[in-house]
Amino acid sequence: MAITPLMPVYPRSPVRPVRGEGVYLYGEQGEKYLDFASGIAVNLLGHGHPHLTTAIQEQAATLIHVSNLYGSPQGEALAKRLTDLTFADTVFFTNSGAEAVECSIKTARRYHHSKGNPHKHELVTFSNAFHGRTMATISATDQVKMIDGFAPLLPGFKVVPFDDLEAALAAVDDNTAGFLLEPVQGEGGIRPASHQFISGLRAACDDKDLMLLFDEVQCGVARTGTLYAYEQYGIAPDILATAKGIGGGFPLGACLATEKAASGMVVGTHGSTFGGNPLAMAAGQAVLDVVANDEFLARVRQTGDRLRSALEQMIPNHDHLFEGVRGMGLMLGVKMKSDSRAFVNYLRTRGLLTVAAGDNVMRVLPPLIIEEAHIREFVDALSAAAADYEVPAAAA
Ligand SMILES: *Cc1c(COP(=O)(O)O)cnc(C)c1O
Repeated sequence: MAITPLMPVYPRSPVRPVRGEGVYLYGEQGEKYLDFASGIAVNLLGHGHPHLTTAIQEQAATLIHVSNLYGSPQGEALAKRLTDLTFADTVFFTNSGAEAVECSIKTARRYHHSKGNPHKHELVTFSNAFHGRTMATISATDQVKMIDGFAPLLPGFKVVPFDDLEAALAAVDDNTAGFLLEPVQGEGGIRPASHQFISGLRAACDDKDLMLLFDEVQCGVARTGTLYAYEQYGIAPDILATAKGIGGGFPLGACLATEKAASGMVVGTHGSTFGGNPLAMAAGQAVLDVVANDEFLARVRQTGDRLRSALEQMIPNHDHLFEGVRGMGLMLGVKMKSDSRAFVNYLRTRGLLTVAAGDNVMRVLPPLIIEEAHIREFVDALSAAAADYEVPAAAA
């Protein structure tokens, strides 16, 4: 048999972590890696954070799973906390980002359906978006590698260029339910939307009674220096998908919505066997205990500024490789002049973990708990690696 026991859908690298400690991962042979990838913006508190591991251990010994057939004191408590901290009035818990986006899409469609406008089912979405790998979420992007071979895609999505307000507004017609976007595109190459774009979409939604759906699966949960990125745009969405960092590594996601946006989501319209289980709720609470306060968020902004300027100072020494830095907080991207995937692979051989993204960007997504010494270690090692790196002929 040629196929591997793990379905071979990932180009798995030779890095094989078996243990983690703070900002470091250790491989099978004891190799040490500085982890500035955080499991793709997931391990906000690094590895083995005592508050998170203790919360999970204690909850695991108390109660792991019951069912959404029963009352959920744990779910109510975390939902209350999230609604207190955000624009939202109500929360549906999921186990992943794609499920959180799915719930957001269903919530938007049900809103218009419940208003007697079932034809308003179409979401305007944006080029190079990434919303997950389910049928609905791949239907919401134009990225060929996500959709090739999976036709027929789900109808009801119209993709227009990102950050192009005119194109977004021109795509609205009588069937439009709203807009679905990442305020800071992650997988597509760390692209923050402009303020003018976001406020224009918000105004159009207010004007035409459309739903504004934010996918903050990657940029949410303190990553950009505010609990959610929308806060920095001075507006609020109607529906928001969160996941990745919210469980600190434990599978947890959520769809947050205003009372109005969720008005169609009545008993029987949606569900999840595992969603909102007590163990996931304990992980979510532990993460919020650490990150959801002004002091921690201010530190993320400060650390983000330091990392960004350290990267910017290094770039002129390697301007054959790097073009510039973009992003917000500790969600940073280094735009490269050659294939970022090849360089990210090379960095792994030097003990540095980063993540490639679209548009030849290298994502730099450290745990939010990094300190000055980690920044120095990362930038020094990156600079040394860049000096030794030979751009592969095929990637030039
Ligand atoms: C990772 C990601 C998703 C999908 O999350 P999964 O947990 O892999 O399903 C959706 N949207 C964005 C913006 C993401 O970065």
